[in-house]
Amino acid sequence: MRIKSVKCRMLSGTLETPIQFGIGAFPTFSATLVEITTDDGFTGVGECIVRKAPQVTKAVVEQMLAPVITGRDPHDVEGLWDEMFQQLRGWGHYRGFVFEAVSGIDTALWDILGKAAGLPVYKVLGGAGRDRVPCYTSSVYFAEIPAMAAQAEEQIRAGHTAIKVKIGRNARLGGRRTDVASVKAVRDAVGPDVDIMLDANSAYDAATAIKVCRQLEDDDITWIEEPVPPDDLDGYARVRKGQHIPVAAGESEFGVFGFRELIRRDAIDILQPDVARVGGFTGARRVGALVHAYNLRYAPHTGFSAGISHLASLHVAATVPNLMTYEYFFAPNPLRDLFTEPFPQPDNGVIAVPQKPGLGLELDPKILKKFEVS
Ligand SMILES: [Mg+2]
Repeated sequence: MRIKSVKCRMLSGTLETPIQFGIGAFPTFSATLVEITTDDGFTGVGECIVRKAPQVTKAVVEQMLAPVITGRDPHDVEGLWDEMFQQLRGWGHYRGFVFEAVSGIDTALWDILGKAAGLPVYKVLGGAGRDRVPCYTSSVYFAEIPAMAAQAEEQIRAGHTAIKVKIGRNARLGGRRTDVASVKAVRDAVGPDVDIMLDANSAYDAATAIKVCRQLEDDDITWIEEPVPPDDLDGYARVRKGQHIPVAAGESEFGVFGFRELIRRDAIDILQPDVARVGGFTGARRVGALVHAYNLRYAPHTGFSAGISHLASLHVAATVPNLMTYEYFFAPNPLRDLFTEPFPQPDNGVIAVPQKPGLGLELDPKILKKFEVS
């Protein structure tokens, strides 16, 4: 089996009402999808995470990485990953767009391996013996406090057992005091038996994060996610030592190298790689080995990523050690449902992994056409 072609498709979808959270207002979702075909007729798809300008990862995939893998055997996926990474590592490009481009390619290669074997990807990766995974529902975004509490309550009534709430307001939106009040209102609304995760999207400094977490220590919070900017590793360590809520992070990290540093500094309890940024399945699996070695927890990120990442993350959840929970996204995301079948729905806190070969759901050309940009 040989890789014949590597092509990209750029997607963009805009919400009527932008989502408000710690980074600001987010109106437009984007993604770069990678389609790889082989000489014996298999096609695999992957996704590169995109927040702005999908043409950047498209250029890296098609101009820089496709020449490395064209003509090669997809079964050598681990070695191909290393060769792609090696292209620019020595030139200083060991994070960022290159990593996101590798992620899309690697995911597509594993999709091919699954299809060729007639098995779902998580089985080809080495399944953990789970075809259903625990999940939490994500996320309650900024709104008036009663509306946030009502939305959380509605999600729990629909059968979810864990829910994430956004914090990290700027002063104009009421700052940390409104954050604390909103979380306490959600706790009152959902009762004591529901897991509540908090996500600041890097909006605090360490001192503010510690203050907020201490004010919420009696509210049985499952984790505080991205309390400070991803590059502030000392800040992460301060937050972890300065209060008692477990610290989660990873959607902004690249490969084992970023996570290695967070772990080395005792700065993190729960690792949240996005398969479309961490280096695809190969990157996600290597992070799994770190999670295992350090007895930490794994909680794959999905969020604003598009449907291939959400789907691939389900397979990650079904294979990695020390899985904590999968992020099921209920908030509006125009690029989540790209398939001919509906995306799997959680039932009482668990979600089933598709069992068809490869990623297990087919992209719907009609839906893609709606969002495709050139
Ligand atoms: Mg997050």
